[in-house]
Amino acid sequence: MFQTRHIEQVIAGIDTSDGAGVKLTRVLTGKLQRRLDPFLMLDAFGSDVPDDYIAGFPDHPHRGFETVTYMLSGRMRHRDSAGHEGLLDNGGVQWMTAGRGVIHSEMPEQEEGVMEGFQLWLNLPAKRKMSDPWYRDFASDSIPEYVTTGGVTVRVIAGSSCGVQGAITRPDTEPLFLDVHLPAGSEFSTEIPATHNAFIYVYRGAVKVGDTAVESRRMGILSAGGGVTLNAETDTRLILIAGHPLNEPIAQYGPFVMNTQEEIHQTLDDFRNGRLA
Ligand code: FE
Repeated sequence: MFQTRHIEQVIAGIDTSDGAGVKLTRVLTGKLQRRLDPFLMLDAFGSDVPDDYIAGFPDHPHRGFETVTYMLSGRMRHRDSAGHEGLLDNGGVQWMTAGRGVIHSEMPEQEEGVMEGFQLWLNLPAKRKMSDPWYRDFASDSIPEYVTTGGVTVRVIAGSSCGVQGAITRPDTEPLFLDVHLPAGSEFSTEIPATHNAFIYVYRGAVKVGDTAVESRRMGILSAGGGVTLNAETDTRLILIAGHPLNEPIAQYGPFVMNTQEEIHQTLDDFRNGRLA
């Protein structure tokens, strides 16, 4: 019997900008990559000021990992060098496996209104870093959901929760990605494989895990253990993310994540000479 997880650390993230000047909060940064292996990065973006997002993310490369974009509100067009194109819309998910390399753009298709969501970077094991690129869009209505007897709505983006299979499963890292909507006064419990590193990010309201509160716009790193129980005093929304650690060396240079510096040098050489994608 594994212990219930508690909050080990609360993280505020760093306000920054990326792409052509999109304002965002980098919640999971480089120094947490070992603790939260297999996750490499989590960005939270959310603004109703067009200047904060309108410039988007023009053509840029990736190699060696997967990007998962969850759009709570807004529209973004994706195009990549593998010939994939898609429109990410309110509540939808885009899952891209960069593998050996893609060059892609992620551009807003709205000139006003709220754009809010997340981008998560999920590492690939050494044996899959040079695999073929892969891409899929999941419209909001194709993401499995269930509602608990306590009125908690759970959207299962990846993995499975309470017997509900998510939109996507992945080998090796076995990610669990839930979007959990808790009404005021509700409680939610889910199993998390004991092998997994796990965290929550609260984007509305606040939640308590045991005696520790995690407020809005904060990440709570969950301790080792089994499942977790969340309590909400007010209407609360959060994402819960967990994955099986790879326990491999991480060598990162910007949008390239490999295992060794030598592989990074090779990647830069491939990119400069047009062999990346
Ligand atoms: Fe990208």
